[in-house]
Amino acid sequence: MIVNPRELMEDAQRNNYAVAGINATTLEGIQAVLSAAEELGAPVILSHAQVHEKYAPIDVFGPLLAAFAEKAKIPVVLHLDHGTQYSYILKAIRYGFNSIMYDCAHLPLEENIQRVKAFTESAHEIGISVEAEVGTMPSNIVGMGGCTEYGKKIDRIEDYFTDPDIAGRFCRETKIDMLTASFGTVHGFYIEKPVLDFERLRKIKEASGIPLVMHGTTGVEEEQIKRAVKGGVRKFNYFTGVATSASLPIENKIRNAEGPLYYHEIAQCAADVMKVQAKHMIALLQSV
Ligand SMILES: [Zn+2]
Repeated sequence: MIVNPRELMEDAQRNNYAVAGINATTLEGIQAVLSAAEELGAPVILSHAQVHEKYAPIDVFGPLLAAFAEKAKIPVVLHLDHGTQYSYILKAIRYGFNSIMYDCAHLPLEENIQRVKAFTESAHEIGISVEAEVGTMPSNIVGMGGCTEYGKKIDRIEDYFTDPDIAGRFCRETKIDMLTASFGTVHGFYIEKPVLDFERLRKIKEASGIPLVMHGTTGVEEEQIKRAVKGGVRKFNYFTGVATSASLPIENKIRNAEGPLYYHEIAQCAADVMKVQAKHMIALLQSV
């Protein structure tokens, strides 16, 4: 069932757990995320990123996500990840998304505040929760902003960290529900082992006073993820680990096939493997 994001986040705050926000870009991805959460009896945030429009056009994928989320036996929030275009966000809302990341982080701070504030005011009137970001978290994924050249080493990741004072002002003025905090992670794969800045996380939590979101969860050590949950992160965006997990098993399946292999068998193999990954993350966040 689709549930109110604010109530889910309040419950997570009260009981000190976090919810996995997992992007699905295929039918198998949706099935993997929801069946993982159902088997564990845990809530989940089913996400679609605007950057994946090419693979999963929202005009067909949006209603599909909503239909699966409604039928799920566990609480589901339908979330738009990194929505940058107003018309795209409106489409997501029309298709039933009840949580929106309005990403204006690439704009100057004052414009970011102004836009997010105006959007949040309207969004709240129709029961939509808003996530936003100050500063831009780097990426090892092409097209995600920040470091866009794949494999390029980021010289000073600290330059991308969220400033606690600015975060405090941003949250007070915009009245958003969740804040994307940058304190040591990047999107995509890591070139060097990530080390999270927990002192900064503590300050961001104190200054913002709202549930925090960590992007770039793939590849972060489990102990650090658990510490981040204790430190106030209530939503972990997890995509790369799930989305790449099926490649090798599929390769083996194709190589070892003794006769004709149907595509739905390959798709099923992908769903099974992605489910294992999703389950592992959901369990780690103490949301079971
Ligand atoms: Zn992100």
